[in-house]
Amino acid sequence: MNRCSNCKYEYRYEDMFTASWKLKTPAPAPCPKCGKMHYISSHRMMKIYMSAIVINLLIMLCVNLFHIHSLVLLTLYILSLILFVIYIPILNKVTEFPESFNKVRLHSINEQERQ
Ligand SMILES: [Zn+2]
Repeated sequence: MNRCSNCKYEYRYEDMFTASWKLKTPAPAPCPKCGKMHYISSHRMMKIYMSAIVINLLIMLCVNLFHIHSLVLLTLYILSLILFVIYIPILNKVTEFPESFNKVRLHSINEQERQ
């Protein structure tokens, strides 16, 4: 459940959908009620894309193992693409601050220096 950290407004599906398909990183997702800036979690986004790659590999593996017709493969890909577009706003998460993989690396380096 995605909620605004300021006014506790619960993000609707439409809010998440428009924020999820912005071609910016970090993707801004301002609160529609109070306007406080939130961002789509890039860590969650990476997990979603990795799982999509794994699902596509499994589809390809099934097609090769069971010698399924290429039209079935095409249908499976189109269906998975439609499901991907529908479910990304549900799976995404908003964060108060933009996440960066470099910051995570910096954080882990700092922790290593402390020990
Ligand atoms: Zn708000």
